[in-house]
Amino acid sequence: MADLILLNANVMTMDPLHPKADGVAIKDGKILSVTTNDDLKKWKRKKTITIDCKGKTVLPGFIDAHCHLHALAESHVTLNLDPHHHVRSISDIQTKIKTSSQKLPSGTWIRGRGYNEFYLAEKRHPNRWDLDQVTSAHPIKMTHRTGHAHVLNSLALKTVGISNETPDPPEGLIDRDTKTGEPTGVLYRMGHFLSRKIPPLENHQLDQGMRIANDELLSMGITSIQDASSHNGIEQWRMFRRWKEPGFLKPRVAMMLGVNHFYEYQESDFITPLDKSQLRLCGVKIILDETTGHLNPAQTDLNEMVLAIHQSGFQACLHAVEENTVEAACSAIEYALKKLPKSDHRHRIEHCSVCPSSLARKLASLGIMVVTQPSFIYYSGDRYLRTVPAKDLKHLYPIKTLLKSGVKVAASSDCPIASANPLVGIYAATYRMTETGERVLSKEKITPEEALRMYGENAARATFGERLKGSISPGKLADLVMLNDDPTKVPINELKDIKVEMTILDGQVVWEKC
Ligand SMILES: [Zn+2]
Repeated sequence: MADLILLNANVMTMDPLHPKADGVAIKDGKILSVTTNDDLKKWKRKKTITIDCKGKTVLPGFIDAHCHLHALAESHVTLNLDPHHHVRSISDIQTKIKTSSQKLPSGTWIRGRGYNEFYLAEKRHPNRWDLDQVTSAHPIKMTHRTGHAHVLNSLALKTVGISNETPDPPEGLIDRDTKTGEPTGVLYRMGHFLSRKIPPLENHQLDQGMRIANDELLSMGITSIQDASSHNGIEQWRMFRRWKEPGFLKPRVAMMLGVNHFYEYQESDFITPLDKSQLRLCGVKIILDETTGHLNPAQTDLNEMVLAIHQSGFQACLHAVEENTVEAACSAIEYALKKLPKSDHRHRIEHCSVCPSSLARKLASLGIMVVTQPSFIYYSGDRYLRTVPAKDLKHLYPIKTLLKSGVKVAASSDCPIASANPLVGIYAATYRMTETGERVLSKEKITPEEALRMYGENAARATFGERLKGSISPGKLADLVMLNDDPTKVPINELKDIKVEMTILDGQVVWEKC
């Protein structure tokens, strides 16, 4: 009666009523039974596949509650300028671009991603003149590790129509030479603007990138993804369909709509022949920031946007990093709730990086969820310790404070900004250690169980998915990960070294360590 049986496992069900078991029986992509080895025998028939787990740990598949799949696919087929790929100076960037330009015909766009000025010897963004030294025959676009800044060479600036006379767009900033007013090539928050002017990668290139990304995600035990890209609209939806249908994007996808595409939703057909557990819309994403020196969008506009989203029944997913923006997000949700009270709305704040305890209590009282990125503590902690003002540093990624205040916190990677590996996030949330071994706010440590729950049940809750995912319980989707060690038993400093052995999605083994 079972299609698949996992035996002799250390099953951590994450279901508090029934926390441990020896194995799992699966039928038609769903969990049939979670029980003892003896009891599992009754589900076995001739055609049942049995896997002996040899004592290894089985957990619910990891859910990444905030990432950017198109950008992840792109990152695999564009120049990687990440500091982890030996890019330590502007001249390293120049060398990489030079090598690439020699293989490409004139006029072809050169795209790079992942540079971060903090990790460059010069401690500054590269500019148009640095890039012009390499090639004047190819337009160049480099994307910052955060995705929120870009650098263009002179040819690219000309191609997209940016000159001394170009005014800053409402939401962005064109960096300019203080003396001449000439654009330096560094553009902040102008991703939307550039996406309208620069041809996208070709489908076959993106497909190639997505195949690699899919394999990477499955190898990390990730079975569900929430895509938080702010440019998501009908085109990105069609792209996800294209990737899901032939099955080369296996993890389940919940796509947020960018707020600019929210009204398009009323007019376009966001349909898919796939079942909703494979591809669906979740919330509407709004980026809140102060790049231009004041809150963008302004509070009154934000209030009305959030109210419209709230009235439509969608979740509002508000990107807010600094304390001011988190407060503004909170006020906008409060405004919507006053106009139309709703108890289980699950509006979310994405990042919520700086949050004192008084604000955390307010989030809890309004029922707002937080989607955090614990692995930033590991990957970017050294930079935070040196660049974040002391008044903010003491409230940075306050995961324990949020949980203690009663906020439901889901975890995510924000990949490709950081690696998607949930085990690094679990390590960082429990150990609060940076890449070079410095501590970031030890008092905000949480337990491995709490961290696992952020990548399980809480991440499922973040899209109203907890009835289907987040624990290994009969009737739920058979999305599982097998690890070579038990995250609640290994020393905390070894958590990130735990390896995924197998990933099961929809009852099928979709990845296995060779
Ligand atoms: Zn993001």
